[in-house]
Amino acid sequence: MSKRQFLIAGNWKMNGGPFEAAELLEGINATKDKISEDVDVLVCPPFVSLGMAIKYLHDSEIQVGAQNFHFEDNGAYTGEISAAMLAESGCNFVLIGHSERRQYFDENDETVNKKALKALSHKITPVICVGESLDQRKKDTHFDVVSGQVKKALQDISDSEILDVVIAYEPIWAIGTGETASPEQAQEMHAFIRSVIAGLYNEDTASAIRILYGGSMKPGNAEELLSQADVDGGLIGGASLKADSFTEIISIAEKLS
Ligand code: PEP
Repeated sequence: MSKRQFLIAGNWKMNGGPFEAAELLEGINATKDKISEDVDVLVCPPFVSLGMAIKYLHDSEIQVGAQNFHFEDNGAYTGEISAAMLAESGCNFVLIGHSERRQYFDENDETVNKKALKALSHKITPVICVGESLDQRKKDTHFDVVSGQVKKALQDISDSEILDVVIAYEPIWAIGTGETASPEQAQEMHAFIRSVIAGLYNEDTASAIRILYGGSMKPGNAEELLSQADVDGGLIGGASLKADSFTEIISIAEKLS
């Protein structure tokens, strides 16, 4: 099996209007002027900063993604943005089903699936987030929860489209809490997700699809997490908001590539 290329993705959440976003990107550029071709890097700023980021990064290796969109193409959905609009703006990636969207904005497995299908139809790579709560882990239902989320999210995604999908395993109890899944817990769940995908598609697809870990990844723990056989990168919240910590994680991924 050829090694899957690391994807290091920054989820800025609701941080960074255009000015602050420009400062952060300048900081990333200043700290790291060259990114190895062996590592993919993505930043996901808020909607209002996407245009600025796309313009700023137009001749850089860093890709730009959104954090959400509506699954309809257009219409009377005040306040919403469609995948067609993101594609037209130059977005190549989009986060779907982040636990904060599931928790605060009624995102569910059905809307996650609709959005994944829609993103793919616009040639935008969906980064589909899955993960269990602390309560579910304590009750030992985490594998069932995650396998249910993965199966529903991937419903009707064809054999030819599935390789354009990225999965992010983000245990909810590790997001923004400073608590990280241990490398063993991450590896165990990533291998499990790969086995679910093998069941839905086949072994080759399961070996090729990228599965990111998200949940308090930072320079101090990135190496042991990214060293796990089935961890293909990170979805990084807090540590992506500081140029030096984000670029340090990128450098760790480069070293391990
Ligand atoms: C996230 O927002 O996806 C995330 C993992 O956040 P943090 O790194 O801050 O835990």
